[in-house]
Amino acid sequence: MSPDKSTELIHHPYHAPADFESPATGVHKASTVFFPTVAALRGRRWVDKSAYTYGLHGTPTTFTLEARLATLEGAKHVILAPSGLSALTVVNMALLGSGDTMLLPDNVYNPSKDFARHEMAQWGIGHRLYDPMRPETLRAALGPEVKLVWLEAPGSVTLEFPDIAALVGTVREAAPQATIALDNTWGAGLAFDAFDLGVDLTIHALTKYPSGGGDVLMGSIACRDDRLHEKLAWTHSRLGLGVGANDAETLLRALPSLPLRYATQDASARRVAQWATQQAPRVRRVLHPALPGSPGHDHWAATCRAAAGLLTLEFDPAVTPAQADAFVDGLRLFRIGWSWGGPVSLAVPYRAPLMRQLGSGYEGVLVRLCIGLEATDDLIADLAAGLEQL
Ligand SMILES: *Cc1c(COP(=O)(O)O)cnc(C)c1O
Repeated sequence: MSPDKSTELIHHPYHAPADFESPATGVHKASTVFFPTVAALRGRRWVDKSAYTYGLHGTPTTFTLEARLATLEGAKHVILAPSGLSALTVVNMALLGSGDTMLLPDNVYNPSKDFARHEMAQWGIGHRLYDPMRPETLRAALGPEVKLVWLEAPGSVTLEFPDIAALVGTVREAAPQATIALDNTWGAGLAFDAFDLGVDLTIHALTKYPSGGGDVLMGSIACRDDRLHEKLAWTHSRLGLGVGANDAETLLRALPSLPLRYATQDASARRVAQWATQQAPRVRRVLHPALPGSPGHDHWAATCRAAAGLLTLEFDPAVTPAQADAFVDGLRLFRIGWSWGGPVSLAVPYRAPLMRQLGSGYEGVLVRLCIGLEATDDLIADLAAGLEQL
């Protein structure tokens, strides 16, 4: 008796020929993965990516994306997470337990501070802040209870570029038990080689430059050490985190153009930054690590070959927060919104004193600009018209 059509539609005898090759990676979708035998079901190991066991533990699509990101970052292992923020929290949960302490730079991506203040505090995990531009404050914060030290280069919004090698050296000397993690979203694996500076792991918000479209949320955790990778991978797996196949495909499609987009946005941001330095007195200071005089410029110059597409304007202290809001509201090409790395330029006003616990030298309102892929002259004209109105 031949099977019913309904059965045949599922267990169909046709198999497409092998050896199909094209520029794109296939979009493999799975929760269930088939095993040829029970012995295979019991014996397969996903954690070293030598086999497939369950959709959450990897598919050819996600393994391919992870391998390409490892190449980009100069890492051996990469784990994908559903957002940049979830990549950060997986690292914290994998490496810290009750009684441990984590250190964060005061200019860290702000939701990291929120996670430390809420969930981590609730779990009995402490945290302390240090000023990354003053390594002595990092040294003072180190002790035997410190198990994880975060670095970010440059800092969020204010874009101070720290001496990464000096910070790493300070931790290795005073707290050899601590893991050193770098949020490398700004560098995107292109501006500098994080692992050559001695960090143990990096995270990326792939949401930003690697996606490049403002349309996907994803994060990654990269490391070189096998044991550290296994620790992170098991926590990631126990938390039940995965990424969608179509999102992984979008990332795979965007990666080949990442260096081109990054270089274009870098060059455009530098031109906007140069122009902005001539907009005194309304613009008091331009924060952009490639600009001489910007905080940490020398460290940037010693470390980096590129500079992403972000800059921040510090307005004259006479400009009120309401006036800065009106400036941003009045821009036509710069849209108002979070994130960066997409085709559309974005602007967001910030108040430095509300963001920093260790003090900041910024007295004026800050407006963070993320440069998209529009023509630079049009962006400058948009900003010039806005400053006229100020
Ligand atoms: C955006 C960002 C994140 C978080 O990424 P999401 O994908 O938005 O969660 C983390 N770190 C830095 C530096 C970021 O800019």
